[in-house]
Amino acid sequence: MNLNQSIEQKLSWWEYQYLLKDVDYTILGAGIVGLSTAIELKLLAPELKVLILDKKTYPVGASTKNAGFACFGSVSEILDDTERFGENVCHKLIAMRWRGLDIMKGRISALDMDYQNRPGVEIFDLEDEHYYHSQIPIINDHVDHVLHEKDCFNLRKGKYGNETVNRLEGCLNPQKMMANLELKARKLGVVFMQGVDVENIDKINCKLSTNLGFIEFNKLIVCTNGFSKSVLGDVDIQPARNQVIVTYPVDGFSLDGCYHMHKGYVYFREVNSRLILGGGRHLAKEEETTDLLDNTEQIISYLKDLAESKILMGQVVKIERMWSGILGVGSDKMPIVKKLNDNIMIAIRMGGMGVAIGSYIGKVAASIFLEDDNSDLHLFVRS
Ligand SMILES: Cc1cc2nc3c(=O)[nH]c(=O)nc-3n(C[C@H](O)[C@H](O)[C@H](O)COP(=O)(O)OP(=O)(O)OC[C@H]3O[C@@H](n4cnc5c(N)ncnc54)[C@H](O)[C@@H]3O)c2cc1C
Repeated sequence: MNLNQSIEQKLSWWEYQYLLKDVDYTILGAGIVGLSTAIELKLLAPELKVLILDKKTYPVGASTKNAGFACFGSVSEILDDTERFGENVCHKLIAMRWRGLDIMKGRISALDMDYQNRPGVEIFDLEDEHYYHSQIPIINDHVDHVLHEKDCFNLRKGKYGNETVNRLEGCLNPQKMMANLELKARKLGVVFMQGVDVENIDKINCKLSTNLGFIEFNKLIVCTNGFSKSVLGDVDIQPARNQVIVTYPVDGFSLDGCYHMHKGYVYFREVNSRLILGGGRHLAKEEETTDLLDNTEQIISYLKDLAESKILMGQVVKIERMWSGILGVGSDKMPIVKKLNDNIMIAIRMGGMGVAIGSYIGKVAASIFLEDDNSDLHLFVRS
């Protein structure tokens, strides 16, 4: 492979005209953030040529590997965010997720992504229950302050005992959501080039070194989330692997909510009588700080035991499939959207909330680059 050779030189005239000629904006990463950024650019300036590069021909990031919770916060998460990052950041995170979901719902119909209103439910260890339940009025005040929705959280006696319920959340099929988002981008004229693995960004000469040779860019937006360290180097983001299992259908199993446990480190829902259960990263934080898409004995056994002993209440679990996906996390919970120079922007660090926040972050990235001063942007600015 000759990295000094341009990909351009290997393309036919037809390919070159379609793919690489006169590209205005190159986006790195075809996850929810990359697609949303491309869509926003085309909506704001249809005449622009927008190209999306991705290293794989099938999705490997988080956007099609997640559990499909359309959520904006549980009791423990909102409390934790307030304590660690302050009220302002906590309010911004709620607002950005809400807005992100709103944008997504405006783009993809409920039918096209199997969207369902299903409450977000949280269950606690017995020793913590009293504390968290006592915080519900405070959390409701936070949500009311941001979304003007009263009594968002309630307490109920549910399948797993005392449960806190967020009445405004839902769930969706992330693969259908992404397929329809890609379709939307293509209809708007966004060009895709898959199988292009970017190894380095030459920020001065505006060139990408890739597995196929180099590509020049005019403006670049990097949306590689959990994989960003390898292309960007020194930036406050780390990969965080999350493992997931799905069972074969279980007779009579149904859940009227999307469940969170252990401060969101564990989550589960029901799809067509199957249990989808993921997380457990808190048990092996060091090993799970990786962008390798593997499953490990430790986490899968933990998830299986939890499914049998608690969620399915003693029934034997048969796992139909297991997989993993990669989150991007860092020392701060706010996503990073910023220009590195006049030609390069990054839009990364979606944490465990990219399904909700990703569409909004795409809007922020496109608006900043095009200097479009829209009313949504203030949600992102920290005060
Ligand atoms: C198991 C799991 C469960 C989750 N559950 C939820 C949930 O219920 N609700 C929620 O809101 N969020 C959830 N998340 C988080 C959410 O899925 C992510 O925050 C979101 O998908 C991130 O989107 P993204 O576009 O930033 O990154 P990604 O979807 O990871 O996309 C990045 C893309 O960049 C490409 N790429 C990377 N490096 C290169 C390179 N060098 N060259 C070319 N291309 C490259 C990758 O191939 C990939 O397609 C979950 C995540 C996981 C893993």
